[in-house]
Amino acid sequence: MLGPPGAGKGTQATLIAENLKIPQISSGDLFRDHQDRDTELGRVARSYMKDGVLVPDKVTITMVMDWIEQNTGVGGFLLDGFPRTIGQAKALDQALANSGGIDLAIYVNVPETELIHRLSGRLVCSKCKTQYHTIFAPPSEPCICDKCMTELNQRDDDKPEAIKKRFQVYQEETAPLIGYYQVLGRLREVNGVGSIEKIGERLLRALD
Ligand code: AMP
Repeated sequence: MLGPPGAGKGTQATLIAENLKIPQISSGDLFRDHQDRDTELGRVARSYMKDGVLVPDKVTITMVMDWIEQNTGVGGFLLDGFPRTIGQAKALDQALANSGGIDLAIYVNVPETELIHRLSGRLVCSKCKTQYHTIFAPPSEPCICDKCMTELNQRDDDKPEAIKKRFQVYQEETAPLIGYYQVLGRLREVNGVGSIEKIGERLLRALD
């Protein structure tokens, strides 16, 4: 799943993975999990993530490749937020060379004005990680998770300065992957504006 910050990759990846009965791996979630467990990798990642810049390729590739190695033989998987640089895409191609590489890269396209609305209102439960939105999906009680009654927080990288930086990083480092997968004939583009259900239908059609 390829797309700018706030395109809904995580939400849609979860739905697709359930539909196809394959595991989903999110590099952002792996980093946040390391931070919650206060591992060395988590501490390294935090210093980059809070500013909205990418964690260096070496660290990211090692973490994701470890996950892939531990999950071979599961009949496929869905990557959300990885690769995000040409270097990561090449490392992935190399790791999957024996099984023919990735099947598809799905690019979720959303205009920047819509992305800013989505990111600046996003709230996340600090315990169960359920996501809300102040306007599009508000919790029943302000800033309290409906599921586990824990306080909701804004991600550090959803604050205005970090959002600006993440868009810039996306344009410079990740957007070139669209051309990379196009040349390989593996790219499908999906319109990422609309209801979660509608976008999900489009994605499943693209995967067909
Ligand atoms: P996400 O949850 O996908 O929005 O990612 C949050 C942050 O985690 C990003 O802004 C980066 O700092 C870091 N991150 C996630 N995936 C990657 C990746 N593939 N390469 C480098 N940094 C990443």
